[in-house]
Amino acid sequence: MSRIVMKFGGTSMAGIERIRNVAERVKREAEAGNEVAVVVSAMAGETDRLVQFCREASSLYDPREYDVVVASGEQVTSGLLAIVLQSMGCKARSWLGWQLPIRTSDAHASARIGTIDTGTLLGAMAAGEIAVIPGFQGLTEEGRVTTLGRGGSDTSAVAVAAAVKADRCDIYTDVDGVYTTDPRIVPRARKLSRVTYEEMLELASVGAKVLQTRSVGLAMKERVRVRVLSSFEDARNDDGHRGTLIVGDDEIEEAGMERQLITGIAHDKNEAKVTLVAVPDRPGAVATIFGPLADASINVDMIVQNVASDGKSTDVTFTVPRAELARTLDVLEKAQSTIGHLSVRHDTKIAKISVVGVGMRSHAGVAAQMFKALADRGINIQAITTSEIKVSVLIDEDFTELAVRVLHTAYGLDSEGEAA
Ligand code: ASP
Ligand code: MG
Repeated sequence: MSRIVMKFGGTSMAGIERIRNVAERVKREAEAGNEVAVVVSAMAGETDRLVQFCREASSLYDPREYDVVVASGEQVTSGLLAIVLQSMGCKARSWLGWQLPIRTSDAHASARIGTIDTGTLLGAMAAGEIAVIPGFQGLTEEGRVTTLGRGGSDTSAVAVAAAVKADRCDIYTDVDGVYTTDPRIVPRARKLSRVTYEEMLELASVGAKVLQTRSVGLAMKERVRVRVLSSFEDARNDDGHRGTLIVGDDEIEEAGMERQLITGIAHDKNEAKVTLVAVPDRPGAVATIFGPLADASINVDMIVQNVASDGKSTDVTFTVPRAELARTLDVLEKAQSTIGHLSVRHDTKIAKISVVGVGMRSHAGVAAQMFKALADRGINIQAITTSEIKVSVLIDEDFTELAVRVLHTAYGLDSEGEAA
């Protein structure tokens, strides 16, 4: 017997027919003798609709009431799934965020999960009752409803799995796993049967949109074994498993898997590039730039600073989320007299391409290979950042698809046989 948390996303829950398909899968796990908790999303499109209602009601809505409104999408699907399970002869009931409760911070619309009371839940599961839990929602210390931020039900599922010490957290979605890159760009992309938490974290945060990044961070911290798989297909991998397992490095070592140097390639078109021209080159200069941006909670990603060839001034280039560009320019304008730059340039026609793999820890030359592959195609690199397991470059947005394809081939990731 295992204890399993199953999570179903919005596409899997969109309508009663699909909820029936979900219930079949849940029933199968329960009938195999497992203790099962299910975490569900709202029906696809529903949360967008609810958010829109709040905006229409008032441009300055109270975030506490926004949470009451948007949390309702998951309340509907959890009740419906419990009804369908019961109609199939399963013991099931819903447990809303406030009923368990799932305690969160009071940062409405982007709350963080604190503790989850599991006493009653574990009792019910042990008695053979399937627990259906709406994702995305929680409760503050003061007893108010919260939500976790868009895509948050992945994080709910991992948090529940950690709290009940589940053997596995299965995330059912509309793709059948994590791929070496976006299969819409590279038809020869391969499904990864296993990936480490760290790699997934890099792939999720640089634009492989399979899981909410926060859920991967939480899984890594709590050592929750996560599996990503499809609610609509049952095809198995060569190794007999389904989907992609996200686990610790040690488990991959143990499985004796042959390591690829590079695990995946991600692309991200959500950044904007900003260049400050002629910043005085003196100690503290960059602090005058990034201090005010940090105060405005603007997340800077890549940073490039040259040495001043004349010993006096240099350009500083960095990237911020595209959605924050207007605010960034505003902050820089207000800080112009302290920073002392001549002018500001910005560009949104850029893309960040990243190659990710724990294999690069023990191999030199990964970055050089990337730069050469891009250079051979005449793709210019505008900025570079690296971490222990990732190299990212900034390029012209028009070359995104070409760059991903070229790198996928260069690192030997293309699948054999006919392209799909
Ligand atoms: N329903 C929420 C959203 O659309 C949470 C989720 O589905 O993960 O963002
Ligand atoms: Mg999702």
